[in-house]
This record gives sequence, C-alpha cells and structure tokens, in this order.
Amino acid sequence: MTPRFPILMYHQIGPPPPRGVPGRSLTVPTADFVAQMRWLKRLGYRGVSMRDLMPYLKGEKQGRAVGITFDDGFRNVHANAMPVLAELGFTATNYFVSRQIGGSNVWDRAKGIPAAECMSKTELLEWQAAGHEVGAHTLTHPRLTEISPDEAAREIADVRAELEAICGEPVEAFCYPHGAVDETIRRLVAESGYGNATTTVKGRARASDDPLLLPRITVRRGHPWPLLLLKCLTA
Ligand SMILES: [Zn+2]
Repeated sequence: MTPRFPILMYHQIGPPPPRGVPGRSLTVPTADFVAQMRWLKRLGYRGVSMRDLMPYLKGEKQGRAVGITFDDGFRNVHANAMPVLAELGFTATNYFVSRQIGGSNVWDRAKGIPAAECMSKTELLEWQAAGHEVGAHTLTHPRLTEISPDEAAREIADVRAELEAICGEPVEAFCYPHGAVDETIRRLVAESGYGNATTTVKGRARASDDPLLLPRITVRRGHPWPLLLLKCLTA
C-alpha cells in the first residue's frame, strides 16, 4: 500500500475569541495543540515541516511523519506553538503573507474575523532559527483565481523574492490563500520555482499526488482529538 501522510493545517494557537465571532473555530487553544503534538509523538509520529516531509512523500525516507503547517504567519503561533515543537523535536512550516509581516490579518476583516497580529521580521527569523520553515502565502492574501493573471503572477513570484531576502535561504513551500487554485495559478506557482504547494482539499498526501496540489487536514478548535487522530492516521 502506498504510504499516506497527513498534512495538518492550523491557523492560530491561543485563546479563542468569544462565541459567535466569525473564524473562531480556526483558533486552537494552546493546551489542545500541546496535547495533539504530544499524542503524535507518543504514537511514534514525527511532526515535520513541508521541507522535511517531502523526502517521505517521495519515498526517499521511511517512517511515520505528519506534516505540520500554519497559515498566515500569526504571532500567537510563535508564542504558543514553538515551545512544544521544540520540546518534541518537531519542525513545522508557517506560510507568511510578506506584506503583513509585523502587520495583521487585514484580508480577514471583511468577514468579521477579529484582528490578529502577524509575526514581525525578528519573530520570523526566530521561527527559522528554531529549524522551522518559512513558506510563502502571497504578498497580500488575495483569492488568486479572482485577480488578473499578471497580478497573480506578481503575488506568487514576489512573495518568494521578498521572503528569501529576509531569511536568506530558498523558499520552496507555497500555500494558496483561501485554497483558491486553478490550472493557471498552479502553472504560475510551478514557474516561480516552488517545490511544493498545499491546498485546502481534504485528505492525506501520497507519492502519486501532484506536489503543487497537496491535500491537508484542517484542525479546528474543539475538534474531538481522538477522532481526528483516527481520521488522520488510520488507513
Ligand atoms: Zn491564509
């Protein structure tokens, strides 16, 4: 059987906003995140960034691995997720919106999602120095399929250049904002030289998948963790 690798998708880690607030489910409480990571470890899984997951996916490396990804580069991930990742020796990928480094999730505001700070440049560098991966999530977080191909090309190529200028190493991992991707957008991502890209399509990744259209498993607040675990990890 072809091995399948779950790639978990998180957004924010910390105290969730009050009941009824849009986007609340995308903040996983720190204690839950810590428990989830420790359970993975106990079950013999290694939590890894996309960079560290790709060799498993390509069959160059054997073992139990789970991709850990965070969208949007939130500051509370730096504060609340990094300690347990360090404790367990796990790595993770955070997908940064380069024009909002040190800013906030302005793209979410129209949906009524409360403002949340993004990591500063210093925090991004600390994230990288801890062994984690800096991934790209465009310049401004647009729905790439709804802007002109020229604009989309700039969003995809320039974020890579901007992030590489900050972190001084190649940026290989891309994530489609809002999960919006079509053939043109996928081609632009390929032309910009990314090695892998994640979507919001639900499922576990396997070797036969297009590396630029990898599925993920969303982890939401209040997700019954044992159930999620079963869903993620059993064949
Ligand atoms: Zn996003």
